[in-house]
Amino acid sequence: MNHEGRIIAAHGRHYLVDIGSGEPLPCVTRGKKSDVACGDWVEVMPTSDDQGVIESILPRRQLLYRSNETRQKLIAANVDQVIIVTACAPAFSDDLVTRAIIAAESEEIEILLVLNKCDLAENLPQARAQLAVFAHLGYPVLELSARSSAAPLRPWLQGKTSVLVGQSGMGKSTLINTLIPDAGAATREISKALDSGKHTTTHATLYTLDAESFLIDSPGLQEFGLAHLERGEIEYAFREFRPYLGRCRFRNCRHGQEPGCALRPALETGEIDKTRFASYVRLVNL
Ligand code: GDP
Ligand code: ZN
Repeated sequence: MNHEGRIIAAHGRHYLVDIGSGEPLPCVTRGKKSDVACGDWVEVMPTSDDQGVIESILPRRQLLYRSNETRQKLIAANVDQVIIVTACAPAFSDDLVTRAIIAAESEEIEILLVLNKCDLAENLPQARAQLAVFAHLGYPVLELSARSSAAPLRPWLQGKTSVLVGQSGMGKSTLINTLIPDAGAATREISKALDSGKHTTTHATLYTLDAESFLIDSPGLQEFGLAHLERGEIEYAFREFRPYLGRCRFRNCRHGQEPGCALRPALETGEIDKTRFASYVRLVNL
């Protein structure tokens, strides 16, 4: 008999599925397919006591992913919120933050920025300045120091599935271990079940905080390709562009030097930040 369950760990073509009773079931996909993401709801068919096959993926509410020209990398499915983890040190890439925001906006996923390691007081002003452009757009920025406490983050997680993304070294693991005291043991169990050996941190993992709150940890990112997004989707994902979209004289206006562009005046007056517009230009290769 088939079961419905949720993917709680994904590593290559190997998955762990929480089927609601007993131990999570290690599963594989049929053939070479690996288009299943952590957080997905799936239908599985047990093939033995401790192994199953994923028969189908149930419809997704959202899918956070990145891609280059040739392939896509699923980050997490059915997530309400993306938490982008940055830190006072080492330096983080604003370009990566921008890209994560665009990927989330294009799937209508809520966004929370975390600035970790705020105990590193001498780096704090610079990090705050880097995040100011995002804060100004209305994205919440939560400052904390995971090493001493992750408590300020807890209320933001209530009643949702959230996914943590960020470059390595920002403190994602520290956050997870502080929020979920038995995360280390859970990760070891998962690695054993998935037989992923020493690659304990290369898979995405879904942790249960309480009956209605879930947190997905994703591997550290160094790049966030958005080749899957069309120009129109990228425009829309720049939330401050929205009031102007569809108002240019030409329907296919690229907001360059076209006459009657509705967006450019906002750039002149500073309503649209110049660095954000430059990010947009880079993303759509104008
Ligand atoms: P990850 O790669 O994002 O999972 O980052 P880690 O959790 O492994 O943290 C990277 C380094 O930053 C480790 O040496 C942590 O001890 C350190 N770190 C994490 N949180 C804090 C913090 O709040 N303050 C300081 N000063 N260091 C931290
Ligand atoms: Zn225009």
